[in-house]
Amino acid sequence: MKYDYDLFVIGAGSGGVRASRMAVSFGAKVALCEDRYMGGTCVNVGCVPKKLYVYASEYSSHFRDGKGFGWQSESPQFDWPTLRDHKTTEISRLNGIYETMLEGAGVEVIHGRGKIVDAHTVEVNGKKLTAERLLIAVGGWPFVPDIIGKEHVISSNEVFDLEAFPKRLVVVGGGYIAVEFAGIFNGLGAEVSQLYRGELFLRGFDNEIRQFAAEEIKKKGTDLRFNCDVTSIEKQSDGVLKVNLNDGSFIVADAVLYATGRKPHLRDLGMKNVDIKLTDRGYIEVNEQFQTSEPSIYALGDVTGGMELTPVALAEGMALAKALYNNESCKVDYSNIATTVFCQPNIGTVGLSEEQARADYSNVIKYRSAFRAMKHTISGSQERTLMKLLVDGDTDKVLGAHMVGPDAGEIMQGLAIALKAGATKADFDSTIGIHPTAAEEFVTMREPVSD
Ligand code: NDP
Repeated sequence: MKYDYDLFVIGAGSGGVRASRMAVSFGAKVALCEDRYMGGTCVNVGCVPKKLYVYASEYSSHFRDGKGFGWQSESPQFDWPTLRDHKTTEISRLNGIYETMLEGAGVEVIHGRGKIVDAHTVEVNGKKLTAERLLIAVGGWPFVPDIIGKEHVISSNEVFDLEAFPKRLVVVGGGYIAVEFAGIFNGLGAEVSQLYRGELFLRGFDNEIRQFAAEEIKKKGTDLRFNCDVTSIEKQSDGVLKVNLNDGSFIVADAVLYATGRKPHLRDLGMKNVDIKLTDRGYIEVNEQFQTSEPSIYALGDVTGGMELTPVALAEGMALAKALYNNESCKVDYSNIATTVFCQPNIGTVGLSEEQARADYSNVIKYRSAFRAMKHTISGSQERTLMKLLVDGDTDKVLGAHMVGPDAGEIMQGLAIALKAGATKADFDSTIGIHPTAAEEFVTMREPVSD
């Protein structure tokens, strides 16, 4: 063989792991290098530990809500080191599983940072290794803007492992990570201020959903501020951070979390040694086959700047391996990808927002249901749920489904299948509900709303 490997994968995140395992299963000789942690962002500083922390934070409302149902107890106390350390144990277990799974499948796992030397060569731990094809699956890295006092802030890479629980936390940003972590720490008992620079957070989501979610989040105690930006951060002599704001006021906090987006993680990758084009936003440009402008080099997942979601990277890794080593077409269908923001309550969404639907279709019919869930008739909680459906009046096809409410993520996964299958409103209407659930509202919305 002319090269050491058929495929050399840089990065053991969701996309790289899936691509290498699948490629091996089709008979390719594959090596994968990783210098940080097996499983990448999702397993180590993303989806998995985040969801564990969301579970932890939800207990406070369970304890509160239980009183109305007859459960009496002293207010339980939260212990941060217990959660943090149990999380670390679980993540270590998953790291081990990833490694065993890859090696068991026949992927050669190399621990070390990969640097591209030329179109067929990667250097790891001082050794040059060659492959017919290289795959860049290095993911993204938190981006923190240049503000005065940047050195005092943390990102989502550090927030999981804080030594001490931040009793007062400032979260900057209005995207997924900011909203989720504001909810987590609020639920765990911290005083949380979330600052977003624009009019309304979660840009790109359905406007009504954004507004409704903002109200629910405020009700739960997060100090959510819009049109609010940080001018500087100072560390006081007692170690407390003073966060100065654009309106002249300030907030004091024990920690400041910047969740202001992520950038492709291309540093020290040897990009200068090859001819790989980047997009205007600095991501690796690929064609539909995930091929870069350097024909033997491929890229997928967050580093290519599409939808930065684990299941998308998994689908891309699978499609690429099938195309390269199993003669299948390299097709990923990016339509109707459901997504959830794990704030409290969840935001779940699939398909078009009302704004997108009205821009693309001339006859959009809207259905909406807003209510207090049955549980809260007794719990005393004022939490409300919102569900909406957007339908193309000409074809009756459901264009979008959105929800703010408990378990919206779980519910939306099922609706995503319906939308993917091209379900019409008549299909929703003829589906018999599961009673009593909140989800049954999606099949019982009869009257369109005009506002
Ligand atoms: P997002 O791109 O979702 O949000 C970034 C936020 O930071 C936006 O509100 C943006 O504001 C704001 N921002 C950007 N630059 C600045 C700045 N200089 N000063 C102040 N605010 C700024 O990024 P995240 O970091 O939250 O998440 C990254 C990606 O990870 C997400 O897009 C998502 O794809 C994925 N993710 C998915 C999750 C899930 O599926 N549940 C969970 C977590 C992450 P503006 O809107 O005004 O630009």
